[in-house]
Amino acid sequence: MAGGKAGNFIGGRWLAEPETMPAINPATGEEIAQLPNSTRETVNSAVAAAKASAPVWATTPVFKRAEMCVAIAAAVDADRDAIARVLSTEQGKVLAEAQGEVAKAADGFRLAAELVKQMGGQTLPAEDPSKLVMTIRQPRGVYGVITPWNFPVNIPVEYLAPAIATGNTVVWVPAPTTSLVACALMAAIENAGLPAGVVNLVIGEGATAGDAVVVHPDITAIGFTGSAATGQRIAGRGAGKSLLLELGGNGPVIVFDDADLDAAAAAAAGGAFFNAGQVCAATGRVLAHRSIVDSLCEKLVAHAQTHVLGDPFHQGTTMGPLNNAKVAAKVKEHVDDAAANGARVLQGGKPRPDLGSDLFFEPTIVRDVTRDMKINREETFGPVVPVVAFTDEAEALDLALDSEYGLSVGVFTRDVSRGVKIAKAIPAGIVNVNAGSTWWEIHLPFGGGSGTRSGLGRLGGMHTLEAMTELKMISVTIGQEAALA
Ligand code: NAD
Repeated sequence: MAGGKAGNFIGGRWLAEPETMPAINPATGEEIAQLPNSTRETVNSAVAAAKASAPVWATTPVFKRAEMCVAIAAAVDADRDAIARVLSTEQGKVLAEAQGEVAKAADGFRLAAELVKQMGGQTLPAEDPSKLVMTIRQPRGVYGVITPWNFPVNIPVEYLAPAIATGNTVVWVPAPTTSLVACALMAAIENAGLPAGVVNLVIGEGATAGDAVVVHPDITAIGFTGSAATGQRIAGRGAGKSLLLELGGNGPVIVFDDADLDAAAAAAAGGAFFNAGQVCAATGRVLAHRSIVDSLCEKLVAHAQTHVLGDPFHQGTTMGPLNNAKVAAKVKEHVDDAAANGARVLQGGKPRPDLGSDLFFEPTIVRDVTRDMKINREETFGPVVPVVAFTDEAEALDLALDSEYGLSVGVFTRDVSRGVKIAKAIPAGIVNVNAGSTWWEIHLPFGGGSGTRSGLGRLGGMHTLEAMTELKMISVTIGQEAALA
């Protein structure tokens, strides 16, 4: 692996843990490393290291912290191929996607460096003329960052880069099934010269290491990306801390009868098959007008048939295995449930253990899906496009709104006013008109709609920097004379 380091990284040192757990290659089922299975005591020592480093890092000049982010970006770029290889081996995504993910991670550090130099407070008028009032932004302190396995380089960077830039220190607990690549990213950050204790990596189970971070009194803020169920638990256990929660989605892609069907099919398939569908903003379901549903399904099947499922390192492979047994079981359960309840599987629909492990699942198109099927209601998180037909705009909107989630939506129509009307009516964080649900760039706001199970707050660009800083109002009594001068 990149740098050959595998362990916890606490206070600037790589440390082993008495108890370990295996890192597995999902394409073969083979063990690729033994990693720490950390205890709560180990988390406590990481929090102590982060707390000890916090005052110095918080008062390190902003331009120095920005320089550090630029240096980390260069270190990530320098290790790109090695990190990407660990990413493909451990997560299962094809190598080209892994290389793209690592390249974007370096961009994330550069973006944080640019933005933090522009982030300021305000001066504000006051009723009392003797006051000079200003706001400043300060780091929140020690961040607990808990991340999932689907983008195990990019998602951590969405928190680590702004945390470093804004002067926070961090205890980071990655998902157990992608902790080796976390070590590779951590090693690149170390190589760039980040001072000891600013970012501390603790590998372990969510219910132990993750929970210990959430409840620790010296953790002042939490950044979490993962499932809605875990997010809700963290919101309870971490009550009183500043929370950024990026949770699940079940993004509809709505295709009206006047849409460009080629563009809609390409976007819907792309959003369902990229990263084998393990994307929070994936095409969770396609809502298609009855008059175009046959034609759209034909096009979706054609897209599915272009995919080559197999080892992520083989030339020509376009889709690797799912990451773990839990997600593979859920994907199969949702497809089987739909088929048993009258939906038609037009393409795929089965696991392919003959390809090397139980985690391969065929790119799948299912039509005649109805409202109450699990595949429509729940987040499937696999390479599956469920198609639900609707009759008119009101029914399309009703189907879209009938969901616990509100993360991202795609709407295809040539009537842009209708697209904007639908966009305004759906309580999701992101609605893309004439693009799929996955379209997003790292400087743009990303997050779940209020009152849904998709999360709390916004990541992306300046939004994360603002979320990771405390807004403080300072008033200075300067007297009438100075105020009026
Ligand atoms: P998960 O909730 O099972 O795990 C996420 C992380 O939380 C892991 O590191 C895990 O170890 C940890 N964790 C588990 N239990 C915990 C606990 N009790 N206390 C503290 N930490 C705990 O989710 P997952 O299966 O790893 O990831 C997939 C989910 O993430 C999907 O639902 C997906 O939609 C969501 N996701 C959301 C976004 C977004 O930005 N909205 C992005 C990617 C993934």
